Amino acid sequence: MDIELGSEDMYLLMSCANSLSRKEFRNRGLIFAQVGLDSNPCSKNCGFCSLGARHGLMGPGHELSEAEVMEKVEAFVSAGIHDLFLMTTADYDFDKFLRIGEKVRKMLPDGMRMVANTGDFGPGEARRLADVGFTGAYHIRRLREGVDTEIPPEDREATLAAINEANLELYYCVEPIGPEHTADELIAEMFRAKKYNVSVMAAMRRIPVPGTPLAENGQISEFELAKVTAVARLVVGKNMRAMGVHEPSLISLIAGANQIYAETGVNPRDTKEDTSLGRGFSVEDASTMLWEAGWEVVIE
Ligand code: SF4
Repeated sequence: MDIELGSEDMYLLMSCANSLSRKEFRNRGLIFAQVGLDSNPCSKNCGFCSLGARHGLMGPGHELSEAEVMEKVEAFVSAGIHDLFLMTTADYDFDKFLRIGEKVRKMLPDGMRMVANTGDFGPGEARRLADVGFTGAYHIRRLREGVDTEIPPEDREATLAAINEANLELYYCVEPIGPEHTADELIAEMFRAKKYNVSVMAAMRRIPVPGTPLAENGQISEFELAKVTAVARLVVGKNMRAMGVHEPSLISLIAGANQIYAETGVNPRDTKEDTSLGRGFSVEDASTMLWEAGWEVVIE
């Protein structure tokens, strides 16, 4: 993590992570697609998130109707994606989330993974997610959880344990990385991912959304993000299915990452109600960037 950007060691690091990923992932690039279901003002007030209630950036909030969710999912599926994610703010009604998940499951092709990205939950809720057809969950202990967020870090870890117990596939990420984070903080999250049997790992830099408290700290460069991506990829090692970088970044895609997201609906890094009109990549954008980095995108 102390390697200097642009040094020979940096390129050796990138090369090492890149060759491992090309070999292990058979040179296949993956497109994940996420639908953000609501922009309700969120009581957790994360210092980087446009949806924090206290930041007052998104007005009274809005929820996609079931019909709108289905329409967006259908558009993603016909454009050609691998895994489908449904994301909510932390206070979203869990039963409603299950109902929508169950309906979405029915319209997904057999074998397509469906992933929950929602607030904290216990073992009972984790089993219910699996019962309605979720195959995995995106869940993390964020950098400086409990300091930059209003969520006790223990709650995040309890949810990670519940995900493991329910045999849901875990998607983890070192995030949201800003210039103030130390190497030790980043490394701790890489090893936490291993502890909870991560299947899909990722690294994400923080986007300084104007009006959020942490925006004034600025952001790290894509080159710096590529270093974290490469190190995280090597730390997690062989027992993973894919390595993501968020937001999509070409440099990380030649430094061990093989997976990026297309997004629609709400996004915590954007103030547009529909991020596909803002920061969010389309499936075509994601496919093009993977191609630029030499990854083959195969939709089976
Ligand atoms: S990141 Fe999630 S939990 Fe934090 S304020 Fe945003 S929506 Fe709420």
